[in-house]
Amino acid sequence: MPHDDPDHPHALLPPDPALRVKALETILTRKGLIDPAALDEIIDTYQNKIGPQNGAQVVARAWHDPEFRAALLQDATVAVTDLGYFGRQGEHMVVVENTPDLHNMVVCTLCSCYPWPLLGIPPAWYKSDAYRARVVREPRKVLAEFGVTLPEKTAVRVWDSTAEVRYLVIPMQPEGSKNLDLDALAALVTRDSMIGTGLAQEPS
Ligand code: FE
Repeated sequence: MPHDDPDHPHALLPPDPALRVKALETILTRKGLIDPAALDEIIDTYQNKIGPQNGAQVVARAWHDPEFRAALLQDATVAVTDLGYFGRQGEHMVVVENTPDLHNMVVCTLCSCYPWPLLGIPPAWYKSDAYRARVVREPRKVLAEFGVTLPEKTAVRVWDSTAEVRYLVIPMQPEGSKNLDLDALAALVTRDSMIGTGLAQEPS
């Protein structure tokens, strides 16, 4: 039976994804399997309260405090938990550091694993088939499309996230930012710089 046949069971679901989600939510709520208020709370938390600003605070501190930076590279899960950043999709964190010799990039080749407590919800491109396939095959080309060109001598390493391990990149600290305080430093740290598809911003 073809999928566009009105008698096909799938035809009961509306074609628009948002309507499909709504239909599923209604059914699950009626059956008492989910609480819509709890769902709204979870979505609001990850959309509005948790975002890349958490990761930016971590990077700013790493730039500012060599002891924290060492602790972060040693055991990121412990170091970020001590700052209050922990939770779903962030149970096992690994932090890697960019240097003049090495640039790190993060992907999940299987799906879209991402460090939610530090970066919030992943951007659409991070979940796209194109990014997931190409960043492994041609990382420099992908970087160029994000507007980043690295010196030839800088090696690129791509880290593949798993259901367990999530990565955060410490971008290189911009020249001329040494005397800034933590909040001013954090303002230079973009989301993409912590995924490795961008660089930290120069102070204005
Ligand atoms: Fe994944």
